[in-house]
Amino acid sequence: PQGATVSELAELLGAPANDIIKRLFLLGTPLTLTESMSDELIELVADDLGRDVNVMSKEEENSFTFYDDPADLVPRAPVVTVMGHVDHGKTSLLDAIRHTGVAEGEAGGITQAIGASQVSVKGRRITFIDTPGHETFTAMRARGAKVTDIVILIVAADDGVMPQTVESINHAKAAGVPIIVAVNKIDKPGANPDKVRQELTEYGVVPEEWGGQNMFANISAKKKIGIDDLLETVLLQADVLELKANPNTFASGNVLEARLDRGRGSVATMLVTRGTLHVGDAVVAGQAYGHVRAMLDPKGNSVTQAGPSDAVEILGLSSVPMAGDEFRVFQDDRDARDLADQRALKARIEEQNRVKHVTLENLFDTM
Ligand code: GDP
Ligand code: MG
Repeated sequence: PQGATVSELAELLGAPANDIIKRLFLLGTPLTLTESMSDELIELVADDLGRDVNVMSKEEENSFTFYDDPADLVPRAPVVTVMGHVDHGKTSLLDAIRHTGVAEGEAGGITQAIGASQVSVKGRRITFIDTPGHETFTAMRARGAKVTDIVILIVAADDGVMPQTVESINHAKAAGVPIIVAVNKIDKPGANPDKVRQELTEYGVVPEEWGGQNMFANISAKKKIGIDDLLETVLLQADVLELKANPNTFASGNVLEARLDRGRGSVATMLVTRGTLHVGDAVVAGQAYGHVRAMLDPKGNSVTQAGPSDAVEILGLSSVPMAGDEFRVFQDDRDARDLADQRALKARIEEQNRVKHVTLENLFDTM
């Protein structure tokens, strides 16, 4: 009960409000029903009433997963990461996909490099994370974040399963994310899509037609063959996952990438996973804090809000957060600032301890 009023606390404790007012009076803090109590006061009064109440610190509160009433959940777009061995066609596929979106008559043209792109297929959106899959997974996993719903594993049909193919499979499996295989370069003379299917079975990636769990699509990213089928496969997989989120609450999500721009200051690409982000919102992202000054969608258009599964570039943070950092919007600007300060302080203390530790070890080394 962060900053609960007297009547709210009475309701929470199931105690008569008059009892609470009496205790407050005895503690030398007369308050009325609608006045709010400090965390300390709440704990004291509860203790007086024989109740053990531990008001959560913001840090503790932040480590909690959000709860949504199922009735508030609505379908959301899938968030997809493309992974695969170098030169198997990741960049070409993302290019082909963006081209598809434009061909469908979407507004805008060339996609700006904001770290994500969005396409519309049969009136349904799909969000693609552009950051190389390995980097995304490593950064997100280091911070315990899960931002990807589906992995597209791209395998060149003329090259087959290679070390980074296996690495990608391991990343996706560790994160519990379903894999759709895009067998690429089928336009090439030496292409053998069935051989790729065969090879992948050794790593537990088995086509549905063979009794397995994985959807496959044969494509040529370069010749733009099979791209629509692949996107429809993504939507099929998304249907299976029944992806949902509550759009009508304060936004939270993850930083996909961030950098310092000479003219614009801290620029961060955020993936909204819950709620709706608005221009003007007070945001904490890792140790960075600020108000959203401006937002750009993946096409570079200025927007005023972004909902679940939307990726936007935001301006206005005080510093540069790290990829994978959680972000969340606070109702109260001071709460946002407090949390950012608390985190920055904690990081400084950890850094100092680390330095001390290293010094001590060095000392022993020289003895
Ligand atoms: P990445 O390293 O996974 O991002 O791979 P790229 O997208 O950069 O592609 C590597 C090379 O393969 C480039 O020369 C592409 O033109 C080529 N390539 C990609 N997709 C195809 C395809 O479907 N067919 C053919 N023939 N070449 C492709
Ligand atoms: Mg590439």
